[in-house]
Amino acid sequence: MEKWASEVQTKNLELRFRISEFIHAEKSEFQEIVVVDTLEFGRMLLLDGIVQTTVNDEFVYHEMITHVPLFAHPNPRKVAVIGGGDGGVVREIIKHDSVERVVLCEIDEAVVRVAKEYLPEISCALDDERVEVLFTDGIEYLKKVQNEFDVIIIDSTDPIGPAKGLFVKDFYASVYSALTGNGIFVAQTESPFVFRDILKSAYRSIAQVFPVTRLYLATVPTYPGGLWSFTAGSKTHDVIAPVNEKLADSITTKYYTAAVHKAAFALPKFVEDLIENP
Ligand code: SAM
Repeated sequence: MEKWASEVQTKNLELRFRISEFIHAEKSEFQEIVVVDTLEFGRMLLLDGIVQTTVNDEFVYHEMITHVPLFAHPNPRKVAVIGGGDGGVVREIIKHDSVERVVLCEIDEAVVRVAKEYLPEISCALDDERVEVLFTDGIEYLKKVQNEFDVIIIDSTDPIGPAKGLFVKDFYASVYSALTGNGIFVAQTESPFVFRDILKSAYRSIAQVFPVTRLYLATVPTYPGGLWSFTAGSKTHDVIAPVNEKLADSITTKYYTAAVHKAAFALPKFVEDLIENP
């Protein structure tokens, strides 16, 4: 019998993936964690039935949420990741020689354990000596941090349950305080096709806190609508181009290049309209 994994994306939209093998399932304190092998996208991690990452397309999201802020910063040394328990963002951060310390703040220890066991291609840098993993709520953690990080990346689940508070103005104000004087942050801000209201509200809140606010896009086939948005907030630098294009082209990637960095900020008209009339 054929087996399928389904993600109910909205009440009117469902995406199905044919499964070759069921790998793991458990219920943690925070969510249901499932790992399956799919025929189209390879191994997949789902949390509460929502696709988080797949081995075949994860590089787009992880490279774009990481290298855009890190290459837009002249000298990123300390970086924090909120969420991101699969380790994909950390794997990309440690490609930057300037980075001395990475703090990953993930609320659910079980996600990190499962990723280390079943998704080694993605979680492979979590034991790097520059990386510290904290199992705590990112909202509470950042409230206590001042002027500490050059870059902060919010690699969160959708705004449901513990991630709800990662999409609000008070949280972005904590991010602002936790950044150094020329700090940059990026958050995943959902789909411009399917989750327009979340995108608009997150963008509006970030723009109320950060003097420089920019939205950019990348295509992630397994996420709702395919086209995905990221919003960067910056204290001083603009983020629309890498500081050093040669350096940006020198690391090994599958999606990110200096040219893609710049192109990602060219927005289709309907997306411009979303953020201009929030
Ligand atoms: N790339 C993914 C996406 O867009 O679907 C997100 C990947 S990552 C697995 C998301 C992580 O955020 C989850 O492991 C979840 O436990 C974590 N998370 C949710 N709320 C959090 C919070 N308040 N503090 C820290 N981590 C949180």
